[in-house]
Amino acid sequence: MRSSNQILKDIFGFNEFRGIQEAIVNEVISGGDALVLMPTGAGKSLCYQIPCLVRTGVGIVVSPLIALMQDQVDTLTQLGVNAAFLNSSMDASSASSTIQQLLGGKLDLMYVAPERLLSPGFLAILDKLYTDSQIALFAIDEAHCVSQWGHDFRPEYRQLTELHSRYPKVPRIALTATADAATRIEIIERLSLESAKEFVSSFDRVNIKYRVVHKDSTKNQLEQFLKTEHPSDAGIVYCLSRKSVETTAQWLQDKGWDALPYHAGLSAETRNKNQQRFLREEGVIMVATVAFGMGIDKPNVRFVAHLDLPKSMEGYYQETGRAGRDGLPANAWMAYSLGDVVNLRQMVNSGDAPEERKRVELQKLNALLGYCESTGCRHQTILRYFGEDHPGHCANCDNCLEPVETWNASLEAQKALSCVYRTGQVFGVAHLIDVLMGKLTPRVAKFEHDKLKTFGVGSSLDATQWSSIYRQLVASGYLDADIKSYGGLKLTEQSRPVLKGEEIVLMRREIGQLKKEIPKSYSSKRGTPVFTDPEDEKLWKALKDKRKQLAEEQGVPPYIIFHDSTLQEILKIAPTSLEEFEDITGVGRLKLERYAPDFINVIIESLLN
Ligand code: ADP
Repeated sequence: MRSSNQILKDIFGFNEFRGIQEAIVNEVISGGDALVLMPTGAGKSLCYQIPCLVRTGVGIVVSPLIALMQDQVDTLTQLGVNAAFLNSSMDASSASSTIQQLLGGKLDLMYVAPERLLSPGFLAILDKLYTDSQIALFAIDEAHCVSQWGHDFRPEYRQLTELHSRYPKVPRIALTATADAATRIEIIERLSLESAKEFVSSFDRVNIKYRVVHKDSTKNQLEQFLKTEHPSDAGIVYCLSRKSVETTAQWLQDKGWDALPYHAGLSAETRNKNQQRFLREEGVIMVATVAFGMGIDKPNVRFVAHLDLPKSMEGYYQETGRAGRDGLPANAWMAYSLGDVVNLRQMVNSGDAPEERKRVELQKLNALLGYCESTGCRHQTILRYFGEDHPGHCANCDNCLEPVETWNASLEAQKALSCVYRTGQVFGVAHLIDVLMGKLTPRVAKFEHDKLKTFGVGSSLDATQWSSIYRQLVASGYLDADIKSYGGLKLTEQSRPVLKGEEIVLMRREIGQLKKEIPKSYSSKRGTPVFTDPEDEKLWKALKDKRKQLAEEQGVPPYIIFHDSTLQEILKIAPTSLEEFEDITGVGRLKLERYAPDFINVIIESLLN
């Protein structure tokens, strides 16, 4: 039996495990259950793929997304792993031949949609494999689909507990990139994973540079951003409405960019065609509503630009997270204006969701707004929202690279916090501002808040300024917005030193005064190589052409042959022998045999010319 380290090197071409991967792999190999929470791009797939190869029998992987199954199976096949999938997109004869392979013990991994897995026919196959001890493990990918609160709810996921009751000896590993505690608890309950070991990695996407700019002329700002930083890169531009998707895509096309639209109003055929071009070609910009992105595994998306504010921090994190899955530098760029906020508020308020739901959505929107206005480290602010500590000073966001002008708002912060305290830590911002500004509304009168010491102490500022102060206090962790109690604000441990006058609170100088320029420091780190030597540029192009040719011959996206990071390492090292080629990250045994000679030829030719 090969060890997991050998498999990692020989098959996947990686020299070492990343972070908690090894501990997870060991747990599952030894037969234990695992719940894995890791962000996008952290390397979840390896955590179940390697145990499938080490343990006896076939690993059954439950996955909700047909496009992802295809991608994973293509990737594994390229590595020489026997993998297949079963889903509704297949015709009867290919499904039956896949089942033959499965029963014949020919597969290491089998991807299957949940509804198929739970069908009586498939369960009968599993019964047989189980009797023969031929099931290596069950992997439940995108495990947050059990949660009815998330947007990816899949009712069939709830029935996956059957796997445990029916096949108790088979280890299960559930994986998700959804970080929040409520979802985690729901996964454990719904999948009966009480005895599973939990593995949680940091959710920081270190390679993503977050930036928020103030909107003035959005399209020109976008073009400026693309020209300076992504002249030939693939990326996604998110817009709120179908109409703005259409007009932005058209505008970019007219300006000579390879941009395509994607939204739910387009025919399935057009959507599919555009998606395929985005995946298979290089440098395509997808202009899309949030309908685009689920199941997009393209590793070299170099930027995600938001022309409109997303609806929540969760949405923002998920959408920006589609950039830089390959770990190379990537940009998350957002143009924001207070007008967007008004639009989104109206959308929420005019919807027909129950009042309670609306309140939760508004609260989530406010958290995002706080993020936009925050002067602190953006990596830190995002992680704090998800309950994770981060030391700040990331050197990879606008606020850390170009600190914003701030003012000493300690006194105002004290007033705002003290008003929260004195009113009992249950009221929302609107009421708190009324109290601070000394407005005798019926609500203020009813609760006798005009008798409080804080009544009227904030009349030197207007309501908009106070609301910005509250948003920034929430964003910086001095106040907690209690979503369950209808958005009432509560003090946190962190607010104590402020109230006692022991801590200085700095705030963004003016609301909406976000940076308009792209500072020079931003172009320093790039996910695509910047060439000083024309010879290097020629070789890079030749390597990419070779990759494209090989990909087209096999009908797979170029990144399935080699990721950009692997191609960049080839460019840097310029290996001219198989021994040298073998050391490159992402080159396993089979890829070495199949592709190294072709790429070595390209390198030798470039040296001779
Ligand atoms: P996730 O499913 O968590 O989004 P993936 O499993 O798709 O992430 O992995 C993201 C990228 O990281 C892939 O390109 C994968 O090949 C790479 N990767 C995973 N593990 C390692 C490792 N140990 N060393 C180098 N690259 C890795």
